[in-house]
Amino acid sequence: MELSLPRKALVTGAAGFLGSHLCRRLLEDGYEVTALDNLFTGTKRNIEGFLANPRFSFVLHDVTQPYWGQFDEIYNLACPASPVHYQHNPVETTKSSVLGIMNMLDLALKTKARLLHTSTSEIYGDPLVHPQVESYWGNVNTIGVRSCYDEGKRCAETLAADYRREYGVDVRMVRIFNTYGPNMHPKDGRVISNFIMQALRDEDITIFGDGSQTRSFQYCDDLVEAMRRYMELPRAEVDAFCARHALGAPVVNTGNPGEYTIRQLAEETLRLIPESKSKIVSRPIPADDPKRRKPDISLAKELLGWEPVIPLREGLAKTIGYFRAFVSERGSK
Ligand code: NAD
Ligand code: UDP
Repeated sequence: MELSLPRKALVTGAAGFLGSHLCRRLLEDGYEVTALDNLFTGTKRNIEGFLANPRFSFVLHDVTQPYWGQFDEIYNLACPASPVHYQHNPVETTKSSVLGIMNMLDLALKTKARLLHTSTSEIYGDPLVHPQVESYWGNVNTIGVRSCYDEGKRCAETLAADYRREYGVDVRMVRIFNTYGPNMHPKDGRVISNFIMQALRDEDITIFGDGSQTRSFQYCDDLVEAMRRYMELPRAEVDAFCARHALGAPVVNTGNPGEYTIRQLAEETLRLIPESKSKIVSRPIPADDPKRRKPDISLAKELLGWEPVIPLREGLAKTIGYFRAFVSERGSK
């Protein structure tokens, strides 16, 4: 009888919000998972439930330093993602994106692993094309306060595209649009975690600017499903897709096309937390804040046979449930 060994996956940024959901899914799918993180914005709390699993191991490591090991699949998520966090140490943010992807691409090259990199809708900057399609090159301020993240992620895409063209690395990229859910850091400053925590603590709901700017919000499980389908695709199919669409590298938008103003989001949050005594207040809009954002997901639909299935109200309710439990167990820390 032939024994089949579990497939091996490396997840960078594994203790973060999305990394923890991906690890859970990979363990459910039978993988042996190595979770790498420097715990800058992530927390062991997000992965402590997996530590007893013999197919899970945690490595405290900074992705800006080389890392070696034999894996079938590498998922590169390591990078602070909320504007508050990535602007806290902008030089480290750019290094995490640029040096991080180089180290992972070198690992993929030497070990012939398949690599899925998490890019972002931020590569479109403050977009002049709406909804955003993958062929749009973006409108990014190279020297603004968001550039450490946006340009780091843009350079990471370039490196991934060139390692594929020059060295044949089997790389795939998702451009993730605002994604939310349980395990977000309650103080990471992103709009959904802020609004829910504020509403649960009867604090003012802080709308930046007049709240007319829009975002499209994707629930975490929908994204993880897209990532797993993408990783499973045979390389020939991915190459043919790139040729068909004249794409320099395999990159698809992953997001929920439902578009909401930030004011609508605040109102919906309060509807779902009816006991809250919070009031909506206005605060100054941060520099370079994109005015409109909504993904065109036609390419992801075609390539992955995927589209998000969790509507905002349902995803918000699940996320509120998580933060409620968090607040009652641990206070607001
Ligand atoms: P997160 O901050 O919760 O997770 C990022 C993880 O990376 C954290 O655990 C952090 O400790 C780790 N990390 C940061 N720098 C590191 C380094 N140098 N070495 C090792 N680990 C490091 O953020 P998230 O929302 O889970 O985002 C995960 C990835 O998805 C990021 O690359 C982000 O850019 C991308 N993304 C997320 C969204 C979203 O809306 N959540 C949108 C677009 C792109
Ligand atoms: N935002 C807000 N109040 C907050 C946090 C964010 O009005 O307490 C706004 C922010 O200015 C932006 C949108 O919500 O227009 C999304 O912000 P987030 O930081 O979640 O992600 P971004 O898409 O800007 O990276």
